[in-house]
Amino acid sequence: MPITPEYPAAVAAWIEGHSQPANLADKNMIVLHETEGSTAEGAISTFRQSVAPHRVSCHFVIDRDGTVYQCISIADIAWHASQVNAHSVGIEHAGISPTGAKAISHAHALMTPPRPPISAMPCTEAQYVASAKLVAWLCGRLQIPCDRVHVREHCEASPADHHDLCCHGALDPDRVVTMAKAFVGTSS
Ligand SMILES: [Zn+2]
Repeated sequence: MPITPEYPAAVAAWIEGHSQPANLADKNMIVLHETEGSTAEGAISTFRQSVAPHRVSCHFVIDRDGTVYQCISIADIAWHASQVNAHSVGIEHAGISPTGAKAISHAHALMTPPRPPISAMPCTEAQYVASAKLVAWLCGRLQIPCDRVHVREHCEASPADHHDLCCHGALDPDRVVTMAKAFVGTSS
């Protein structure tokens, strides 16, 4: 496991035991996720605490302020989108979709004592910029075109996970790709 992040603008947040060794040459897709939570820290701790057979992880997590955390080497397999794990790199974005907010609010109402409902948290401008720069860098490393065929939402890349309602709605993937195209070929 490398010590310094592979992505120059990232902060290291390596997660051990939640990935499999693989080859960068086999990677040909980037998958965009939403955490359905308000912080990167929360998502990273969920990854670290997840246990077999439901261990989960993701290569990168982008916080609300645009800080990028790298958790898994881009050559290795993380467990973020079951149908494409072997050949993709995953990016989580801290945010809450309208559907996620509804589900969390419903769970809050059933607690004793009940907790207040929460609102959706669309991704911030800082996250869009950070995500676009990271996507552009990854397209260079993976040698793939920066387009919507190679940069997909979880629900598009791995429909069998049934994440078409969660992990969708807080981030506009078209906008990330459009912004990323402007960064392709720049260093970071
Ligand atoms: Zn997802």
